[in-house]
Amino acid sequence: MKALVYHGPMDVRVDDKPKPKIQNPEDIVLKITKSAICGSDLHLFHGNFKSMEPGQTLGHEFAGVVEQAGDKVTEVKEGDRVVIAFNIHCGKCWFCKNQLWSQCDRANPMNDIGGMFGYGQITGGYDGGQAEYVRVPFANAESIKIPDQLSEEQVLFLSDALCTGYFAADMAEVGLGDDVAVFGAGPVGYFSVMSALLRGAARVFVIDHWPYRLDRTAKLGAEPINFDKEDPVERIRMETRGKGAKCIDAVGYEAVGHHNHEKSSNPAYVPVNSMQVLNWILQSARKASAISIAGVYGTEYVNFPLGQLFNRNIQIKMGQCPVKRYSDQLLHMIETGRIDPTQVISHRMKLEEAAKGYQMFDGKGEAHKVVLTP
Ligand code: NAD
Ligand code: ZN
Repeated sequence: MKALVYHGPMDVRVDDKPKPKIQNPEDIVLKITKSAICGSDLHLFHGNFKSMEPGQTLGHEFAGVVEQAGDKVTEVKEGDRVVIAFNIHCGKCWFCKNQLWSQCDRANPMNDIGGMFGYGQITGGYDGGQAEYVRVPFANAESIKIPDQLSEEQVLFLSDALCTGYFAADMAEVGLGDDVAVFGAGPVGYFSVMSALLRGAARVFVIDHWPYRLDRTAKLGAEPINFDKEDPVERIRMETRGKGAKCIDAVGYEAVGHHNHEKSSNPAYVPVNSMQVLNWILQSARKASAISIAGVYGTEYVNFPLGQLFNRNIQIKMGQCPVKRYSDQLLHMIETGRIDPTQVISHRMKLEEAAKGYQMFDGKGEAHKVVLTP
């Protein structure tokens, strides 16, 4: 079968690999019909996770048709169309039973982090779904059945980006009449804005520096702030009359640093400042609010000014989104036409073109969400 394989930093290729087989009675083999590229894949693409070994298939946002089901699979059967939660979870351990599916104890017993598709040894070494087929462990817990009237594309982002955006708004405790600032207008930022508005926010600011992404996100009802043109902290404080906003980080540690952001003659130069977004948030967050960090951070030590948070009674919430906490409700929002997640899609490509898809998505300026069809 064809699969998008990690070869090393900035080097992914579509290779031939053996078709996966059932290994455990709760597995299914899924024939993929749609997959997507996530901002989290870009961290791997950039070579930032040492646990990612050449040869692994990438991809943790996918939907498809059950091709084969193990003996203990009761919730789905061959021929069913399903979308799969990106965090691999058993549904039965203490964490799963307490709605903490992204911390499942059985999916990745060797490491103190939840299991995940296509994310290297640290998250269990499972192959991903940017491929023709994928093995899905714990299929009874993992599978979200697709209603007949909906297409795979309509529900694809329940696997990650849509649920993660909602999780971000939930962690920020966004409620009726709130002013919210979403840093990052990528797909996660886009769905964070959508979710903040669904939860009754009065105003939602979205901060990025790519006009294409800002414009598309503004169409949801957000007010764009281009950090290349103005200081987001000043603008948020001015617009909220000094009160500040409930803040969401939908960027993570590969944040572009504002002061370094000058065009370089070296095209490989990436002006990263891992603390940029958190520093802006520290200054823009409303007193006694919760900072919501959906963007990914590595485990390196960072010197973080905890005293500023303490003084202003600010909490921090973060982590991998427990997809199943939100997927049923968001599926119903899609079914009833209240939301249309397909609007975030900017490019549809063949799986064979996936390497080009990574480059386009990484370029950000002209791409939002890239969907692949095997
Ligand atoms: P993306 O890379 O497409 O989007 C990130 C956006 O942030 C880009 O548009 C970029 O221009 C913008 N940005 C960069 N520096 C910035 C700055 N200083 N201020 C404001 N915006 C800035 O990625 P995505 O798919 O939207 O994902 C966003 C983040 O969320 C990534 O870190 C990803 O790994 C993470 N993520 C986390 C979870 C989870 O479960 N917590 C799930 C999915 C994705
Ligand atoms: Zn993801």
